[in-house]
Amino acid sequence: MAKDKRKKEKKVVCRKNDELLLKIEDMGTEGEGIGRADGYALFVKDALIGDLVRVRVMKTRKHFGYARLLEIVKPSPFRVEPKCPVARQCGGCQLQHCSYEKQLQWKEEKILNCLKRIGGVDVNQVIVEPIMGMASPYHYRNKSQYPVGYNRDGEPVAGFYVGRTHQIIPCRNCEVGDPSNQLILDTVLDFMKDNRIPAYVEKEHRGLVRHILIRVGKETGQIMVCLIINGKKLPKSELLVEQLRQVNPQIASICLNVNEADTNVILGEEIIPLYGEPYIEDCIGELRYRISPLSFYQVNPEQTKRLYETALEYADLQGAETVWDLYCGIGTISLFLSQKADKVYGVEIVPQAIEDAKYNAELNHITNAEFFVGAAEEVVPAKFRESGDALRADVVVLDPPRKGCEEKLLQTVIEMEPKRIVYVSCDPGTLARDLKYLRENGYELERVRGCDMFGMSYHVESVSKLSLKE
Ligand code: SAH
Repeated sequence: MAKDKRKKEKKVVCRKNDELLLKIEDMGTEGEGIGRADGYALFVKDALIGDLVRVRVMKTRKHFGYARLLEIVKPSPFRVEPKCPVARQCGGCQLQHCSYEKQLQWKEEKILNCLKRIGGVDVNQVIVEPIMGMASPYHYRNKSQYPVGYNRDGEPVAGFYVGRTHQIIPCRNCEVGDPSNQLILDTVLDFMKDNRIPAYVEKEHRGLVRHILIRVGKETGQIMVCLIINGKKLPKSELLVEQLRQVNPQIASICLNVNEADTNVILGEEIIPLYGEPYIEDCIGELRYRISPLSFYQVNPEQTKRLYETALEYADLQGAETVWDLYCGIGTISLFLSQKADKVYGVEIVPQAIEDAKYNAELNHITNAEFFVGAAEEVVPAKFRESGDALRADVVVLDPPRKGCEEKLLQTVIEMEPKRIVYVSCDPGTLARDLKYLRENGYELERVRGCDMFGMSYHVESVSKLSLKE
């Protein structure tokens, strides 16, 4: 009886508002610290593995709870001073307080843990190549999207959302963004103030300027500034163009994107050019690419090159292959591989990206690449049926968004029987799920390599190579 009672009491090891000392022993999928109070796991944002911390319990669930960091009693050996003064509040970075070496190690473990737990992979049977880290994990992003709002004094501000909220924390000199962003933001905000251009107020779905999108071609130096507005016209836009061009002559494209919907999706469909062409160009390796505002383009060019080189290596092309590049965006991987293949087909859901891809093939004098617009899970099965099951693919490249591939697509890929599948992934969880399916259907996972595209954040990219079993 007494024993039973103790057991019952043990379940309620902590209650809301309890203060406790915790040793942080692990890191959660989003980089948060995990400590255990009598075996009960508590997730603590901003606490780092190795820290001894004092926390306050905020929320308890049956098997785990959440606590707030009150004090770092003894810092972890991996703890470093964040460069950015708003790193803790800002939802953009989660790991600035962690040394870069430790970030890389954790990211690699994250991939392997997903492969083991979700994918059922025996990682000892797979060649795991060391994660590719950045030479410097700061100022690497070529694209930033700043939400615009008001501060307490009613002045327009731009910055980032506080984690899990839509509250804006003003920030103009982001440590992972491009250094040229600050002056551009200042110019837009001053223009708004001087000309009484209203910022958008999300809660009330009123006001005009919702976001400022800045994209920088790191190789070409070309900059695009795009204002996302809740309307079709920006008053005095000629003046803004003039002011922007004055502060930075590298600005090659200024445009508006119309988004009048009551939504938290950032971009609308319509682009209104204000200055230059409604796109910029950039290079990865030898190839040049045109990028429209609505098209996806990898945010870290230095690492993208290494990512694509790994994809190329894993594709193991001899020159005679037919390659399908699914989720191809503006055709970056397709064109990268086309130089070593007989024929490349790209499939992508965003029409503007496919327009860019076709243009990019011409721009680089590539004639053996063809592109189709549509959902991969629709286009590929349809082509497969059309061809009477004779659709040829020696190599299939998959590079889906975070949610991974639909089973319907994977099923068709299996029926196409490519010799190799190269899976480029930005989410190890969905990667592991999809690899499980492919491994259960005739493919063997041979190699995996992490690539850090998003230093200071919990996100991690990887490339995997699968081969058709004999
Ligand atoms: N391989 C490209 C793009 C990868 S990002 C590169 O490296 O740049 C993933 C891409 O998949 C995005 O361009 C997105 O628009 C596209 N996408 C999303 N869902 C899709 C679907 N169901 N079918 C095809 N493409 C899709």
